Amino acid sequence: MKTEAHATPRGADGKGAETRKGRRARELSIKGIPISSGVAIGPIYDTAEAPAAAPRRSITASQVEAERARLTAAIAASRKQVNKLKARLAILPEEAQEELEPLLDAYAMMLGESRLIRGARKRIEAELLAAETAVEDEAEAISAAILQARDDDKAGLRRRASEVHEIARRLTRNLTQSGFRSFKDVPGGSILVAEELTPADAALLDPSRIAGVAAEEGGADGHTAIMLRALGIPSVLGLPGLTNAIARGDQAVLDGGTGTIVLRPGAEALEAGRVASMAYAKERTRLSKLRRLPAITTDGEEMELQANLEIPAELPLIAQAGAAGIGLLRTEFLFMNRQGLPDEEAHYEAYRQIVEATDGAGVTIRVLDWGGEKDMEALAEGIEPFHAGPNPALGLRGIRMLLRRPELLEVQFAAILRVAAQGPVRILLPMVTIPEEVREAREIYERVVKRVRRRGVTLPEKLPPLGVMIETPGAALAADAVALEADFFAIGTNDLAMYTLAVDRGEVEVSHLYDPLHPAVLRLIQFATEAALRLRMPVSVCGEMAGNPRLVPLLMGLGLRSLSMNASAIPRVKQMVRALNIDDCARFARRVMEQSDPKRIQELVMGFVPGEKVT
Ligand code: PEP
Ligand code: MG
Repeated sequence: MKTEAHATPRGADGKGAETRKGRRARELSIKGIPISSGVAIGPIYDTAEAPAAAPRRSITASQVEAERARLTAAIAASRKQVNKLKARLAILPEEAQEELEPLLDAYAMMLGESRLIRGARKRIEAELLAAETAVEDEAEAISAAILQARDDDKAGLRRRASEVHEIARRLTRNLTQSGFRSFKDVPGGSILVAEELTPADAALLDPSRIAGVAAEEGGADGHTAIMLRALGIPSVLGLPGLTNAIARGDQAVLDGGTGTIVLRPGAEALEAGRVASMAYAKERTRLSKLRRLPAITTDGEEMELQANLEIPAELPLIAQAGAAGIGLLRTEFLFMNRQGLPDEEAHYEAYRQIVEATDGAGVTIRVLDWGGEKDMEALAEGIEPFHAGPNPALGLRGIRMLLRRPELLEVQFAAILRVAAQGPVRILLPMVTIPEEVREAREIYERVVKRVRRRGVTLPEKLPPLGVMIETPGAALAADAVALEADFFAIGTNDLAMYTLAVDRGEVEVSHLYDPLHPAVLRLIQFATEAALRLRMPVSVCGEMAGNPRLVPLLMGLGLRSLSMNASAIPRVKQMVRALNIDDCARFARRVMEQSDPKRIQELVMGFVPGEKVT
């Protein structure tokens, strides 16, 4: 997807606020990647302005080396971020490039052997301060000196001092890593603006307070995007130049459906935002009426439409959407924004709450899928750290990490077995590539079953089935062999597309290449689905594809009868199912699968009209 930024002076009063760069600013419209639909109109809240949660801390002499190493790592991380910002300058309009380039150069210099860095290192050693305290003290000292300089250009001095603070804040954020952001103080109704939002950050957002989210980084199907969609917060990611274009006190209109944000909107843009917001609310009311209707085609074929769940806060949304249970419970939330690991009781309590809330409709619990773009730091805190390796998406992710640290798997299995008394549950293994991984996991599962029984826990006669995520090309192409070890399949099209096309799903630079409709991805889905259907084994799709109504005829035509998606997508998908005829879907899928050009497939899918003859 192409992103662009363009100034739209129309309607602005010309007296805008000062941006971070210090210029007076007018209305500015920026286009990014649409993530979660809905319209937000409100003041922006710049997450970079939020104080990093770094209380003053002293250290002992024996900790000096470790603190210096932390500082070095934070400098490297900050440099990488600034370089990334610089690399993205090229897609901005020339005027914006001219303004931002010197600023980013100044940041890069300050991250070299600057006074800030030298001073912070010295303070760690001489004053026995923690790295973040040393950075903050040094930045304060430098900025005080700058502000006292004899110079008539007071605005220039203020700007330089704020640049020092800005870079100190970045260092502090990188030093404090996970959980550094607290969104508790964000005024209600604000549009949150960030350079980058991690999935762990997104898990902290309260959808009843945050009106919208806008960030520079991020791809359409990354975990941050999934989280935002799950929370139903209007969101746009991949907005080039956003954080440098904003000014304190700015208002904005954000449209998550079109992927635009208008900063400092004039009267015309504000009115357009209000109209879009009203249309969106009306559409939601219309869709909510579908809640109690069955997901059944015009010729009587029934579909199972389930919800994906990222955090328990979504449970009310899932109930409202009329989901037939939870087809994918991502358990990563239990490991986020906390110190140390959750124990069996913490897992059990979380699962119990979710199983009870779904009233026996069934919950598929996926064991921890840590790695890749999912935050590693929170998990590593306070325990032996996991090493993601230089290429985390290809490293110890998902089942690989769990088999390396079976005690994590054992705790989750035990908690799931206990909760099985409360309602039907299934267990799902992430990132499988070979049948052997399923066999090994099953051995551990059987051991845990015995152990839990010995503890006197009554287990249901039929134990929770053990299923496999089909989300790597390896698993998809070996689906017939994997199926012999598995009780069910859940096709994870997000990772399947990422690994098949070698495109990072959360990376804005390559987001135009991320295409689940690529024939290679579709053929893998077809192969895995047919392998399961031959064995009469349950198979579903739980990637973001399942929540796109336009893709439903194709998925149904490929033989899928169970889809799991973000709750807010269920009404639209149901509306589509109810307009379809299953023979048409099968004919349409055959037509699509004859194609080898992704563009042609895109045209066919977009051109499909329910009820119209498929040739
Ligand atoms: C997927 O990869 O499609 C999937 C559902 O898992 P996750 O998005 O959590 O990686
Ligand atoms: Mg996945």
